[in-house]
Amino acid sequence: MMKEAAYELGGDNKPAVNYACVTSSDGFADKDEILVYGKDLNQINGSIPFARIVIIKTGDLTGEGQEDTEPLFRAIQDIDFVKYHVYPKGYMIRSSSDSFREQVRVSKDAVRKGINFEQVGNSYIAQFKKNPDVKAVKIIFVTADDADYAEMKKDAKKVRDITKTLSKILEGMATDCHSCSLREICDEVEGLKELHFGKEKKEFKG
Ligand code: SF4
Repeated sequence: MMKEAAYELGGDNKPAVNYACVTSSDGFADKDEILVYGKDLNQINGSIPFARIVIIKTGDLTGEGQEDTEPLFRAIQDIDFVKYHVYPKGYMIRSSSDSFREQVRVSKDAVRKGINFEQVGNSYIAQFKKNPDVKAVKIIFVTADDADYAEMKKDAKKVRDITKTLSKILEGMATDCHSCSLREICDEVEGLKELHFGKEKKEFKG
């Protein structure tokens, strides 16, 4: 496989970060957009640091006001799953959700044919937009040497913690914030507490 590869994004233990954020608010991803910071795929010669960050604008997924967490959580899961359905030719993705890493082997043939992030980004956008809840997609590819990949990794962890918290809320966990292990993330991220207590109120009302 490596014989056929021209290089690997995130290869040789270089940073390789990936995460996706979902929002229904304006101002983050109002139109489909592909941004590249650093070298494009057809300008790279060897292992290089890499990040792929996706911001997805959806319609309002919380149902009635902010009371129903389930459609929101399911939509985030569906959206996240899209990454396993994108296979641009000559662009072989290896991801690990535990470490937030996404490495990519790019084939010599693909480089010869001029593969670039615009083509790859459009493959992702087409997949994401099969979901009718998705209104717009911004994809940011980073290969610059001086980008802050450590900070991006922290953001990736925060996104994962928020998704985990939504999952716990959905399971109907206890509602005492003082003794809750998720308190740190709920204190930091606006709206999570409202989601939890809105859901409890709804269930109480039956
Ligand atoms: S709102 Fe409170 S009880 Fe609910 S998950 Fe957050 S910290 Fe825990």
